[in-house]
This record gives sequence, structure tokens and C-alpha cells, in this order.
Amino acid sequence: MFLADTHLLGEVQGHWLDRLRREWQMERAFQTALWLLQPEVVFILGDIFDEGKWSSPQAWADDVRRFQKVFRHPAHVQLKVVAGNHDIGFHYWMSSYKVKRFEKAFGSERLFSWKGVNFVMVNSVAMEGDGCNICAAAEAELLEVSRRLNCSREVPGSGLCGVGQWLPPSAPVLLQHYPLYRASDANCSGPDAAPPEERTVPFRERYDALSQEASQKLLWWLQPRLVLSGHTHSACEVLHGVGTPELSVPSFSWRNRNNPSFVMASLTSQDFALSKCFLPREDTVLATYCGVAGLLAVLLLAPGERLASLFLSGWNTLRTHRAW
Ligand SMILES: [Zn+2]
Repeated sequence: MFLADTHLLGEVQGHWLDRLRREWQMERAFQTALWLLQPEVVFILGDIFDEGKWSSPQAWADDVRRFQKVFRHPAHVQLKVVAGNHDIGFHYWMSSYKVKRFEKAFGSERLFSWKGVNFVMVNSVAMEGDGCNICAAAEAELLEVSRRLNCSREVPGSGLCGVGQWLPPSAPVLLQHYPLYRASDANCSGPDAAPPEERTVPFRERYDALSQEASQKLLWWLQPRLVLSGHTHSACEVLHGVGTPELSVPSFSWRNRNNPSFVMASLTSQDFALSKCFLPREDTVLATYCGVAGLLAVLLLAPGERLASLFLSGWNTLRTHRAW
């Protein structure tokens, strides 16, 4: 199960009522999905928090505690989280301290193999390409992952790969917060694509999407067979290079969309199938609340006699229709 951009609100910009409502909605949606669909692994593709980029240690601890409550899961379900710009800050706000506290809470795993499928989880905020300490370390880690993936494609024992831990011989699935470079959302379609007036707005490299250079590096080093990303809050399907598909996973929060969704995937070492699951539309939910409130008001405020005559006339109409 893949979801993205939950943006749990922080103490600075989040109103308590807004926070309470959004977290209750996401908790109900997530717990229902777990119960109904029984995923083995859940991946959250970054921006789990709104204010991890600047939150104080106390606020961070409170955010993490609420995250663990909303996204609680049975022990046999694995939950993996990728860092986003709202979790550790945009590149120039990112610090070793913020990256470390994120990794302390959610792990620093880059490569995860499960039932013959390799997943590479990239800190895409560190793919700026300017050689900063965090960026250099992130690139070195990815090169090591790339080496191990290349070794898995060789015959064990041959070449320079030695006798280390062998990965399943399968092209990886690349998971990150920023999408790989695309010029805009102009070619995106579907009920949860960006609104038409926003689709043609050009993407800024290193802000809306990765730079062209970083995207090429990731495609070349890792040679993924599928890419899943978040950040845009809207859906899109893109083909990169020689035909590597990328899916932008929309936001899971009703605060960001009227029709949030998540993706369910079935993966084998050679193949995959994806399907989109929509949560209820927020306007439908609000209309239902209003309808029920209106009905209750009529029932409570109408005088007893009038209510009885309304009920009787309704009953008579029903009987007449049944007689015909
Ligand atoms: Zn983001």
C-alpha cells in the first residue's frame, strides 16, 4: 500500500480543530484500509508532517506520537517512511540534526527486499547535486545500493562482487518524495490530476521536481522498473527514458484534496499491478452531514400535530402506491 503527503499539522500553523478533524479522518481511512485490504507493507512517500522542517524537539515528539497513533498497525504489517521536504526541510533548511531525528523515528533504511522485490527508498531532498555534506553522503549510499543491485544481476561468485549478501535478481522499485523531473503536469489526466489551470504551470527543478541531472543519475544508477513519488498532491502517470513508468501518488489528506486516494500494488520480482483506491469525497460527506442535520432540525422543531399529519400523509401515499 502506497500513500503520500499526510501533512499532520504542526503547532505553529495548524489550528487545533483542523488538526483534530484531519487526523481523525486519516486515522479512520487508514485503519479501515488496513482491515479491509490487509496490505503486507505500507510505504508513506514523505511529507508525513507539515512542520517537521522547523518544529521544536517537544513539537516533533508530539507529532511523532500522533503519527504513531493515527498510523498504528499490527506487528505483521511493515510500515516504511520516506523523508519529504516538510519532514526535514527544503535543501537549504535541511540539517544533519533534522535528518537524524527523522531517521531515529522512522529508520534510515535505503534498500528493502521483500519476497523477491527490491525497494530503494531515496532521500530526494538530498539530491540537490551541489556536493553538500548530506547530499554527498546520500549519493555515496545510493552508489553502494547501485553496486549491490548490479551484483544481483550477475552469477553469484563471478566478477568483483564477492560473497556478500545477495539481493534478489530483480530491477528495483524506486520510492521517493519528489517526482523525477518533468516539465509540468500538462500530460496528466484523471479525476485526481492537478486542476486544468495548474497543469501547464512549469515545474521548478529542485522545488516541484528533482533536477534533470539528479533524475538521470537515479535512472542510470538504479535502473528501476517502477517509480512512485509524492509531493505534488495530485495524480500523474509519466514515462521516463526507455519506458520507466512513474506514478505520482496524490495526498492522503482531505486538507489537500476533495478526493484523496492511495495506491494498492501487487508486485512479483518481474511484474506489478497497481490500483487506485479513493477515499470518500469531502463534499459528499459534508452534504450528508448537512442533510442529516436538516432532517433532525425538522423533526425536533416541527409541532407534534403537524409532524403526525406529515407522517400520516406519507404513510397513506405509500399505501396508495402499494395498492396500485
Ligand atoms: Zn513535499
